[in-house]
Amino acid sequence: MTELISNFLAGQWQHGSGAGTALIDPVLGTELVRIDATGLDLAAGFAFARNQGGAALRALSYRERAAMLGAAVKVLQANRDAYYEIATTNSGTVKNDSAVDIDGAIFTLGTYAKLGDALGDRHFMLDGEAARLGKDPLFQSQHVLVPTRGVALFINAFNFPAWGLWEKAAPALLSGVPVIVKPATTTAWLTQRMVKDVVDAGIFPPGALSVICGSSAGLMDALQPFDVVSFTGSAETAAVIRSHPAVAQRFVRVNIEADSVNSALLLPDAAPGSEAFDLLVKEVAREMTVKSGQKCTAIRRIFVPEASYDAAAQAISARLAKTTVGNPRNESVRMGALVNRAQLASVREGLDHLKQQAQTLHDGATHTLVDADPAVACCVGPTLLGARDADAADRVHDTEVFGPVATLLPYRDTAHALALVRRGQGSLVASLYGSDPASLGATALELADSHGRVHVISPDVGQLHTGHGNVMPQSLHGGPGRAGGGEELGGLRALGFYHRRSAVQASTTVLSTLS
Ligand code: NAP
Repeated sequence: MTELISNFLAGQWQHGSGAGTALIDPVLGTELVRIDATGLDLAAGFAFARNQGGAALRALSYRERAAMLGAAVKVLQANRDAYYEIATTNSGTVKNDSAVDIDGAIFTLGTYAKLGDALGDRHFMLDGEAARLGKDPLFQSQHVLVPTRGVALFINAFNFPAWGLWEKAAPALLSGVPVIVKPATTTAWLTQRMVKDVVDAGIFPPGALSVICGSSAGLMDALQPFDVVSFTGSAETAAVIRSHPAVAQRFVRVNIEADSVNSALLLPDAAPGSEAFDLLVKEVAREMTVKSGQKCTAIRRIFVPEASYDAAAQAISARLAKTTVGNPRNESVRMGALVNRAQLASVREGLDHLKQQAQTLHDGATHTLVDADPAVACCVGPTLLGARDADAADRVHDTEVFGPVATLLPYRDTAHALALVRRGQGSLVASLYGSDPASLGATALELADSHGRVHVISPDVGQLHTGHGNVMPQSLHGGPGRAGGGEELGGLRALGFYHRRSAVQASTTVLSTLS
């Protein structure tokens, strides 16, 4: 039997009392490790984090906590090779895709270490200026932001076991709030290993960082009013979280990052052969294949002017045809596996569903797997679909197929394009491609209300931009509507979720002691 890896709760490494769930190599089908959280005393573990971890973190200044994030960066960097090894075996990702998760995590943590250092030796933040409350200026109101005295519970998705942990933990720990992370079962190993390395290095005070690998049972029940929960995953599970008594009755603050049917939009001025057209083609092919399309921010719908539909279909298909798919250990492979058999089945099912309203422009099934047995490996080639009647293709606007799948859709004019993009009901990101700054700016503003991020690619930034799907810590991540309504990152904005705002009404003499 493979190793049963431990949970870290109440300041102790603890095994679950059950036999555990096996984590599987999605390419070779072999068992890697097992995880289990049966029988853990969650109430005691949450209380330990809340009381001991929280008090110890709050006793430190932002600068001191930022220094701890910086120390954690060093530990993670020193163990990078081990993380890549785990990602290859457990997530089936090629090196470049593992980097998005692992190096993305380290970069994000490092960014918060720098941002936190600039906050200095304070223990709370002022929110805006003091405002007088009457004619006499002596009595005023000053808003303050103080860390919440609870735990931050993270329930994470399978596709970013490294980044998903640290993009949330960095602002929480910097705020002075202890973290309990429950990674998705399928890829929990990498999260557990990173927590283990940081815990073993003794960087954070006891109770500041805990990891629970296994079933989610009982986690939400353990939450109390000043705790917060941040969930990333499917819309179905998000609905369970939102309706749980902890949220619905105890009013635990909740952040939801759910699924999203993101768009790429070629502006009317960008004809085939233009730089903007080529940039769209390149970005779409990249987004469809990075992490085998298992990215919440991946492009799912591609909107082009009617006259450019055939040229776009051809150009994107030609790029996809060159993608080598299979065993990530083979140097020639550009795209590895989906995470497990269930995900493979779900992608196939999703494709069948979309094909009722779309035709196949490039068929992923034509890709021969490199160094991988199709009967075992969870690998699938990239598929481009197309629907000439974009209005009628409601499945394309409604369905997120979490794999290397996107659909090309033609539009008549800008108003039509915007209406079609909005049929995603709120997304994490839309990217725009064109060369006229005024129309790009205007279109970005048109889409800003329904997108957490609008990524504008014009020829002048063709080589510089950070990528449609890459989440940068400086920018907001999250989206309104069906994307979950959450907000993460965005630089120091992320700290807001972990702080409570209060208005202190007092004489200016009292208020002067706060600044
Ligand atoms: P999922 O099945 O909803 O699982 C997400 C997490 O919720 C896992 O840790 C899971 O644990 C846990 N969970 C399941 N049932 C639960 C319950 N009743 N109570 C509490 N927790 C529960 O999602 P997934 O398949 O891992 O992730 C894929 C989805 O995530 C996609 O739809 C993708 O778009 C979305 N996603 C969104 C973002 C974003 O930032 N917006 C980022 C990444 C992914 P187990 O694994 O143990 O079941």
